[in-house]
Amino acid sequence: MSVEELHAELVELLGPRGATLELRAREKASVDGAKMSPIITEQLPLGLADIVAFPTSADEIAAVVAAAVRHGVGITPRGKGTGNYGQAIPLEGGLVLDMSKARAIIEVGDGVITAEAGTPMIALEQAARETGQELWMYPSTAQSSIGGFLAGGSGGTGSIVHGANHQGFVAALDVVHTATEGLVHVEGEEAQLYVHNYGTAGIIARATVRLDPMRDWRALYASFNTFADVLPILKSVALLEPSPRLVSADLPEVSNALPTDPAIPEDRASLRVILDVETIDAATALIESAGGRVEDVREGPQASVRLSTLSYNHPIEWLQKTSPGTYFHLEVGGDALVDRIDEVHAVYPGGMLHIEGKIDRPIGMLAGVYESPEQVYAGIEALKELGVGVHSPHQWFVDFEAARTQQLAASTDPRGLLNPGKLVADAAVPGMGKLTS
Ligand SMILES: Cc1cc2nc3c(=O)[nH]c(=O)nc-3n(C[C@H](O)[C@H](O)[C@H](O)COP(=O)(O)OP(=O)(O)OC[C@H]3O[C@@H](n4cnc5c(N)ncnc54)[C@H](O)[C@@H]3O)c2cc1C
Repeated sequence: MSVEELHAELVELLGPRGATLELRAREKASVDGAKMSPIITEQLPLGLADIVAFPTSADEIAAVVAAAVRHGVGITPRGKGTGNYGQAIPLEGGLVLDMSKARAIIEVGDGVITAEAGTPMIALEQAARETGQELWMYPSTAQSSIGGFLAGGSGGTGSIVHGANHQGFVAALDVVHTATEGLVHVEGEEAQLYVHNYGTAGIIARATVRLDPMRDWRALYASFNTFADVLPILKSVALLEPSPRLVSADLPEVSNALPTDPAIPEDRASLRVILDVETIDAATALIESAGGRVEDVREGPQASVRLSTLSYNHPIEWLQKTSPGTYFHLEVGGDALVDRIDEVHAVYPGGMLHIEGKIDRPIGMLAGVYESPEQVYAGIEALKELGVGVHSPHQWFVDFEAARTQQLAASTDPRGLLNPGKLVADAAVPGMGKLTS
């Protein structure tokens, strides 16, 4: 591999600020949110980029990939770097393709929006709102990029109705392969094949994702004496019609770790809902029937986004900030989170669930006091026995439809240059067994 030659070619292509060999920039481009995992943290640093490139458009992304391929240099794509289990770390060095400067919104159509890979999700939402529409979904990391969310994320605000980001959110993509030069346009089912596999089958240079007509949302905050009071109404709140956009709840201990807000009173369980203005009365009745009280109802897009930033992994991150070095977490799902919550909490010392209400089954983040990797893996088995579905954010292998991605990558990236080390045939994931599908 010839990094110096690649650097010279990229400077020619992108200008002097378009590529760097500088150590600080390479270090910055080689970390993501993996510190959420104490198991991964113990293994850091996991890799250091040899070179970083900053293309500013989809065409430049394709040109940078073609140059790296010519020099035989591996390519780790990068959006905002918020992935929380090392997916964006260049395990084998090589080129980090930082797409955060390729952020043009190309078109807002009827029901779809098209933008370049580095566009922040929040910018897409704002552009959609200007046309009376809104994204099907965006993650709690609202500043993260559309390319990174599709390649590394899974869901967020809006998933309550639309499910995960591989379930139809993507209408079309322009992807870059290493087997051929230039952009490849894929639509429909073919486009879903590039979702949630960390860019290992193709780099997303431009994405077209779906929009709904905009609704009149409110951010409702409620509080309860205990978490056990919230759980029985969680599903009913999620099933309000028209559907809410987000339903999040926390134990008093987790609520205490969230940023100070009079609507999240100390030592009380918190329920936070982004809901249609028409359903405020019905939601209030449900909350009061469970012994809770509505603390505040806030209006405007900022109020919704703020509530989104307290959902999914974020409450755990706040917990970790207030008690550094104490907690790990697992991504969990299933009715047992409600029906068997005491047993779920008992799996780990200090067990605390942040829960997201959904129409089909609740999902959440289960925090526990960290002791050792073995303790975490043993708990995964115990959770499965309780009927809890588990995803481990303590490893970086592609573990969603891995065999399908391997099949695709065999033709799109035959030399394995895309995000090397992430797509591993038949990888054994601790606590999770073999990845065969
Ligand atoms: C506190 C916290 C909260 C979070 N909340 C959520 C949440 O609500 N929902 C959720 O789904 N996730 C969540 N995440 C995970 C992460 O924030 C999301 O996956 C995010 O959308 C990733 O976007 P990014 O731009 O930061 O991507 P990065 O972290 O830069 O990249 C993510 C992965 O995608 C690859 N990649 C990046 N850009 C491209 C591209 N253009 N083409 C191909 N591959 C690419 C990277 O190599 C990496 O494997 C959270 C993480 C943290 C730390």
